[in-house]
Amino acid sequence: MEKKIAVIKGDGIGPEIVTEALKVLDKVGEKYGHKFEYTDVLMGGCAIDVTGEPLPKETVDVCLASDSVLLGAVGGPKWDTLPGDKRPEAGLLGIRGALKLFANIRPAKLIPALKGACPLKEEITENGLDLVIVRELIGGAYFGKRDTHVDENGVKTASDSMAYSDYEVERIARVAFDMARKRRSKVHSVDKANVLDSSRLWREVTHKVAAEYPDVEFSDILVDNTAMQLVHNPAQFDVIVTENLFGDILSDEASMITGSLGMIPSASLGEGTLGLYEPIHGSAPDIAGQNKANPIATILSVAMMLRYSFDMAAEADAIEAAVDKVLNNGYRTGDIMSEGNKLVSCSEMGDLVAAEI
Ligand code: NAD
Repeated sequence: MEKKIAVIKGDGIGPEIVTEALKVLDKVGEKYGHKFEYTDVLMGGCAIDVTGEPLPKETVDVCLASDSVLLGAVGGPKWDTLPGDKRPEAGLLGIRGALKLFANIRPAKLIPALKGACPLKEEITENGLDLVIVRELIGGAYFGKRDTHVDENGVKTASDSMAYSDYEVERIARVAFDMARKRRSKVHSVDKANVLDSSRLWREVTHKVAAEYPDVEFSDILVDNTAMQLVHNPAQFDVIVTENLFGDILSDEASMITGSLGMIPSASLGEGTLGLYEPIHGSAPDIAGQNKANPIATILSVAMMLRYSFDMAAEADAIEAAVDKVLNNGYRTGDIMSEGNKLVSCSEMGDLVAAEI
């Protein structure tokens, strides 16, 4: 099979981790007889430096014409003082909107070899931790009407509105139910229906969709309770579906309890097969350019790309198995290093995983 991939290396450690992920992807191509063609495009701080814009039009055009997009990370102190819409992170919101990527998929799974890094007590995780958060990505408070004004008495007020339409809830709910069918057939829908109108609509629509999936166990849960349950009994969750702002916060919490930021991939999907795949961490300016970063989250993002955009499940399994093997053999980058293991650089980790494919 031939696939065109737009590659956004971005800033900080972005270029280092993406290089390792492409090394692994090339090995998959070689082994399984696929041709992956890469086109580098700019986004974030590096795009601002060259074009003055965090998301040049050419980047959007190339991404739209590709089968999939791989992203490293964007941002850094150099661009922190720019106004909101000119900052590197504006590129992230812009590309999600431009590609109509409404579903963000973030797995949180305890990797047995890294059990020691999990901050929860063993008695809490003894039943496992293997869940996926399906977060609505282009609606709600982050995309609603916002306003900051000063009234005649000098009082300054700022507001953001959280709005959802029924079709937006329905399409994200379907992503969650379809995913649950491929996993352990359980969906928790997270809202704040005891307070928010947008949550009451969310609940009404998710219940309608749930009726079409009688084989999937379904329940509602309030967002505050979800935050508690994630650290109290994470094994109860399989697929969690929620709106943009709640999902942003809960998915960081879920990632944290797995132990390492450098290990977690993500996928952002729309109606078709085009997706954007990226690690959940940022550009880690503190270790950029030192060949120290952990490339595994980006390598696992490529596995998600193979699974969700290219329907190459065996190839995705091969990458995940290769990562497990390397970790089981005791190799670690600095962020996940512990006593008795072997410290390796970013590029060595990429070599090790590629060699196991
Ligand atoms: P960060 O995720 O970049 O770093 C947090 C800490 O984790 C740092 O100590 C860093 O060294 C470490 N870390 C992160 N990824 C690592 C990896 N792969 N291997 C080893 N260690 C790793 O978060 P931050 O410091 O809050 O943000 C830095 C910049 O990244 C900011 O400009 C922020 O806006 C941006 N950011 C971008 C994205 C994105 O591109 N999607 C996401 C989050 C933050």
